Amino acid sequence: MRKNTIDIITLGCSKNLVDSERLIRQLELNGYRVTHDSENPQGEIVVVNTCGFISDAQEESVNMILELCEAKEEGRVKEVYVMGCLSQRFMKELGHEIPQVDKFYGKFDWTELLNDLGKAYRADCQYERRLTTPGHYAYLKISEGCDRHCAYCAIPIITGRHQSRPMEEIVEEVEHLVGKGVKEFQVIAQELTYYGLDLYGEQRIAELIERISDVKGVKWIRLHYAYPMNFPWELLRVVRERKNVCKYLDIALQHVSTKILAGMQRHVNREETYELIRRIREEVPGICLRTTLMVGFPGEGDREFEELKEFVRWARFERMGAFAYSEEEGTPAQKNFEDDVPDEVKQKRLSELMDIQQGISGEVQAEKIGKTLKVIIDRKEGEYYVGRTEFDSPEVDPEVLIPVADGVLRRGAFYDVKIVDSDDFDLYGQVRK
Ligand code: SF4
Repeated sequence: MRKNTIDIITLGCSKNLVDSERLIRQLELNGYRVTHDSENPQGEIVVVNTCGFISDAQEESVNMILELCEAKEEGRVKEVYVMGCLSQRFMKELGHEIPQVDKFYGKFDWTELLNDLGKAYRADCQYERRLTTPGHYAYLKISEGCDRHCAYCAIPIITGRHQSRPMEEIVEEVEHLVGKGVKEFQVIAQELTYYGLDLYGEQRIAELIERISDVKGVKWIRLHYAYPMNFPWELLRVVRERKNVCKYLDIALQHVSTKILAGMQRHVNREETYELIRRIREEVPGICLRTTLMVGFPGEGDREFEELKEFVRWARFERMGAFAYSEEEGTPAQKNFEDDVPDEVKQKRLSELMDIQQGISGEVQAEKIGKTLKVIIDRKEGEYYVGRTEFDSPEVDPEVLIPVADGVLRRGAFYDVKIVDSDDFDLYGQVRK
């Protein structure tokens, strides 16, 4: 157990990671040494930043807390603190069930932890953070919360209403991070396209992205988590025209059947969904689309699932994730519907859908063979340098592997790479001399 050392363990999504990075910085400003390695906690204090999105994630968070409480009982850790989404949602219950935890914080009051440790929260450094990503890219959270009411989703219950950060503040953060060496920004929000509506009375995501794109030193901007209703078409112009905005859009569609979309309270139907994809592809030729789909929502019969498969074959998403519906406490779906698709059917549909997508992804990857693409190098791993093209987001998308034997490459630098081979997931390339 290392004295004056705190471990932060982050579970869940990149939005949580940004909170952890801010906390790490605050602790460092107060003289702590902070590590961020869930595999190997060494400090006398551990903070778990939890996820409460779906039951699997909740279980993972609870198991991690229990493991650390055991370490505390065995004297390997002195204090255990818990923050984040799960804690926000079930604070009372968790406090009752796991009293060994020293204190639970919600999603927004974690700053109190500093006071509880006898230190001071440095409001003057509130947007500073210690990046846990490779220094050349960072996640950029532009808002908190969500004002949509998708029937299956517990996020609005946890995070509350949508709160856009002022544009000036975001641009200032970008400038600060560029000064620290960041070149690539993964723009994130629960609902990207809503940006500005709460603060300025209108959607202003396109303007925000243009302003970030104007910051000198910003090389790549990537957009995550758009919503299909009231899509701000102006954003497509920005993606098409701006050189440093990646031709990449992560847009969660969830389903295509009008009946299921209505049950999900997504406020779009089948025709609008097809039209949206058609128009995005038309206005931004070559764009890489990532989506997330859900199988097994209440009422999904064979017919609706067939519609979904047909849509996936038609849309040819470059990237797709899918998950099975799980009933979440307090959501409209839990209150209004019976979870009527058996688990084994959900799992069967999930793997069927992923099989279709695997074939598409393999073809999409193979089409890149022979092309020369701009690649940023993230790391060296064994025999390869590992990088990404503008079509690949860290952690979730394919990577480009370049043999170390071909010569030395610099982390965070861009290279023109000729793609020479591919498998279902990754690409293999050679740097053009
Ligand atoms: S837009 Fe996303 S975060 Fe908001 S309610 Fe729907 S699924 Fe949840």
